[in-house]
Amino acid sequence: MEGQHCNHSMQGVQLLGPGNVQLATLQRPEVKAGEVLLRVLAAGLCQTDVHIRSAADSRTPDGTTLGHEIAGEVIELGAGVTQWRRGDRVVVHPCWSCGVCAACLAGRQNACRRTGSRLSPPPTPGVTRNGGMAEYVCAPASALMSIGELDPEVAATLTDAALTPYHAIRTCAEQLYPGSTTVIIGVGGLGNLAAQILRATSATKIVAIDTSSEALDAARPWLDVAMQPSDTDLIDRVMSLTEGCGADVVLDFVGNDATLKLDATLVCRAGAIRVVGLSGGTYPFVARSSNNPLPRGVTMMCPYGGTYGDLAAVIALAQSGAIKPLITRFALHDALNAFDALQAGRIRGRAVLIP
Ligand SMILES: [Zn+2]
Ligand SMILES: [Zn+2]
Repeated sequence: MEGQHCNHSMQGVQLLGPGNVQLATLQRPEVKAGEVLLRVLAAGLCQTDVHIRSAADSRTPDGTTLGHEIAGEVIELGAGVTQWRRGDRVVVHPCWSCGVCAACLAGRQNACRRTGSRLSPPPTPGVTRNGGMAEYVCAPASALMSIGELDPEVAATLTDAALTPYHAIRTCAEQLYPGSTTVIIGVGGLGNLAAQILRATSATKIVAIDTSSEALDAARPWLDVAMQPSDTDLIDRVMSLTEGCGADVVLDFVGNDATLKLDATLVCRAGAIRVVGLSGGTYPFVARSSNNPLPRGVTMMCPYGGTYGDLAAVIALAQSGAIKPLITRFALHDALNAFDALQAGRIRGRAVLIP
């Protein structure tokens, strides 16, 4: 016996039904061939989890242990696992791709051909498989990445909050030349890290727009200009900062009708719009040369997750001190309070559960 429960049970945060997430006593998972068992050191909690709790994500079956942002220590190796040792500290890539298809071999694991389907990405812990808001979790050995001495609480948040913006930014490499301008719409969790990643990896001018003056203040060390959507001269200021051309890159972490329209109004010819926030907004695609609200040559997309190389890059950025996620800690047994606080917008930076 260990504490109040036996060696084969554990505490975990489970989806029981629509709107119903509970702390439960669960069976400790058994490691299968090709997997490792991790003792969870930290599990991030984000809006995706709040969406899942509200039954807004049909991918997640009842009974799933939540938690897609996982850092842990390897404690048991499944058959055939040779690349890890007990005691290794790792994060889990949230996209469990096959590793051997043409897309994976090309370094595009989030486009894996053998896992998921055309409209659904590869399996994700805490979304389509049991995740890391628990004392233990199993994960494929191929989905782990070493974090060395990096604080596991920081590392856990990187797997989504830094990976997703890093990947989105990398798809704009052509537009992020020195002298370019990037507008970030929404500098909460992911937008804040987007500003840090841009500062660490480019010489682009960074303009942030957010309704929250607190969020703007938190991001200010990495910004050139901070504005609120209510500023009447917002569009004029972006145009004057860019010699009337518009922003080379617009990163939209909101993604509603109003922000998509603003993205299109601010972007320059041959610019890039990346919509990371998925609030269900729509924007018309018009195939016409004159009076088109979207300048010619603009690419607009909702990127997904990131590649294994992208995760290695954000870990390296954090290890070098170039990016520093702001973290609010909760004990695992306090998870429901963390969900409520996040849903109510009361958390600064990223919420992390500690078993
Ligand atoms: Zn997340
Ligand atoms: Zn693959």
